Amino acid sequence: MNLKEKRKKLRELYDQYEKEVAEFKKASACEIGCADCCIDVGNIDITTLEGIIIHEQMNSFGEQLSAEIKNRLAKNKAEREEKKLSRCAFLNEDKLCIIYDIRPFSCRQLYSVKRCDGASPTIHLQAVETGKQIRKKIQQLDLSGYSGHTSYILYLLDKESFRKRYLSGKSDPKRIIDFGRSHGILINRYLNK
Ligand code: SF4
Repeated sequence: MNLKEKRKKLRELYDQYEKEVAEFKKASACEIGCADCCIDVGNIDITTLEGIIIHEQMNSFGEQLSAEIKNRLAKNKAEREEKKLSRCAFLNEDKLCIIYDIRPFSCRQLYSVKRCDGASPTIHLQAVETGKQIRKKIQQLDLSGYSGHTSYILYLLDKESFRKRYLSGKSDPKRIIDFGRSHGILINRYLNK
């Protein structure tokens, strides 16, 4: 499957999840402007497939915004390395997601039936299970890639050599072994055995 086909399939998986949890999400207490899960949870993981789509969009934002986001991602990465919670690099001053249409699955999975107010979201168990199955399918779709915290995956994808290798379909975990180990990067093909 080429990248275009994978992107299409990824979108189908996102849609499948939304369809399957639609009834549960009707009870959601989430509203525009509440971005607790983009600020306090600080645990938004992505696959490299999702990362390449986000990276492409970042570079289409224009020089200034693109540089600003890279700075925020570097801050996220440093905070994450210090085990601190961090505000997502894609959340703007109005607490709106600037990549909402292409936000990763981790974000799509998050909703809460009661206001979080700093606590973890309260999600239906069935929706969590559906989320796990869809996540696995996304990782299977991205078998030559990796999974990890957004700032770490985007850090790797911003390196031309890593990006080119990934886009050529060649997986070479040895090249990122030290960074991968110290930053909890998972190898998708090993997650699906
Ligand atoms: S990508 Fe968007 S929805 Fe996801 S945590 Fe960041 S701001 Fe929130």
